[in-house]
Amino acid sequence: MTVKYSLVIPVYNEEKTILELYRRIVAVINQIDGSVEIVFVNDGSRDYSLQLLRDLHQKDPRICYLSLARNFGHQIAVTAGLNFVRGQVIVILDADLQDPPELIPAMIEKWRQGYQVVYAQRTHRRKESYFKRFTAYLFYRLLKRLADVEIPTDTGDFCLIDRQVVDVINSMPERNRYLRGLRSWVGFQQTAIRFEREERFAGEVKYTFGKSLSLAVNGLVSFSKVPLRVSTYIGLLAAVVAILMGLLVLYWRIFVPHSPLTGFTIILVAVFFLGAVQLVSIGILGEYIGRIYEEVKGRPLYTLAEIGGFSSQTLHRDHCLNLTPKNLD
Ligand code: UDP
Ligand code: MG
Repeated sequence: MTVKYSLVIPVYNEEKTILELYRRIVAVINQIDGSVEIVFVNDGSRDYSLQLLRDLHQKDPRICYLSLARNFGHQIAVTAGLNFVRGQVIVILDADLQDPPELIPAMIEKWRQGYQVVYAQRTHRRKESYFKRFTAYLFYRLLKRLADVEIPTDTGDFCLIDRQVVDVINSMPERNRYLRGLRSWVGFQQTAIRFEREERFAGEVKYTFGKSLSLAVNGLVSFSKVPLRVSTYIGLLAAVVAILMGLLVLYWRIFVPHSPLTGFTIILVAVFFLGAVQLVSIGILGEYIGRIYEEVKGRPLYTLAEIGGFSSQTLHRDHCLNLTPKNLD
């Protein structure tokens, strides 16, 4: 029985890399034993990416594409791809060639050995700014300490997943899709493959500092309740400090006749400190409540504007949002 492989590639303004990516992928998949579909997910690009994908789809039947109705973000774009893929083995990779397609055969080899998830782990981050490397280093270690599930350090979304696992991930309804976390959460046989992360082939990094920060907060909040507890601990600590201070003031009042200490400074410091603690705690609570609000609304994760290479029969009703029969081919 030949195996069917699916590649999922999120694309946001990648007109400069798509053709090179296609060339490198084809070189790899021509050597793979089995059929391959390549599912590009256009995440509301504002450049010629979508047109390039349409052309590739015309030229090469292995290429399919989904086009989201606006920019929904990397994680949602990958989620959309996972909803549609038909392969038995699924590989997720970035469009900017930072995740070398040449690694895929080695991943498949691991899959043949019986692993259901093979994730790529970075050994180096060449040419990325010190700031990015440093913050990424800190974040992955913090997440490792705080998260309820063990999320391996220095892994991105580049991975191979078996159909069984994709079905589980697809059945998880949550909106805050920190895929690396979900992928670890599901369990199954997982293994790492080490690789050196290359430089982006062309174009700008789409993950601005703000987006990276929001992904990091997402990862922490979705997989850990520790931040909620932190404010409780700080509150307890503040209570102990307050009691000690009270005792100290009492001591001064009774035993030190002309205490030089004026209460004003202490009060000011205490007010500022407690104010800060309370605001931070409310902020942390807000992060969780905001997520509950997002989940409760129950909106679909994305809307689709156009698809290529998927017949309308295979579509689930939820997938067809905003699709008119004309752009279903
Ligand atoms: N991407 C996306 N939607 C976005 C931002 C990025 O689909 O809103 C895609 C992008 O085209 C690329 C991948 O996600 O294929 C990773 O983006 P990028 O290379 O900018 O991030 P980094 O490598 O810094 O993690
Ligand atoms: Mg990149």
